[in-house]
Amino acid sequence: MKKSSLPILVRKTDFIIFGVLAAVAVICLVFLKMQNTKGDFAEISIDGKALTIVDLKNDDVLRIDGIENVEFEIKNGKISIKSSDCADKVCEKTGFISDVNESIVCLPKKLTVVIKSENDDIGNFDGIVG
Ligand SMILES: [Zn+2]
Repeated sequence: MKKSSLPILVRKTDFIIFGVLAAVAVICLVFLKMQNTKGDFAEISIDGKALTIVDLKNDDVLRIDGIENVEFEIKNGKISIKSSDCADKVCEKTGFISDVNESIVCLPKKLTVVIKSENDDIGNFDGIVG
């Protein structure tokens, strides 16, 4: 048995382990990506309380009762805050979101917009806006 064969064997084993780990990582990433599906609705909340659900199927620019001076825009299944009179405008800068669990937050107004899918429990609302 040659002395040099052992380190090569170890290196090969390391390579296989690395390859398996890399494959597992890729599978995890693909799985996460698959879970990152497009949402059907946006849940709009103030101070943690859901005010309404907006359907993302219909392009629209709308205002929500109870949220002053904020305009929402729905386009191509995505939603954004088109305009807001808050100080930092972080919510406007967030732009359009469309993936489930993506969110827009407006801290000054305690406003959150979270994307939900049809499979989520979207609560009992009288009607769906949009
Ligand atoms: Zn804001």
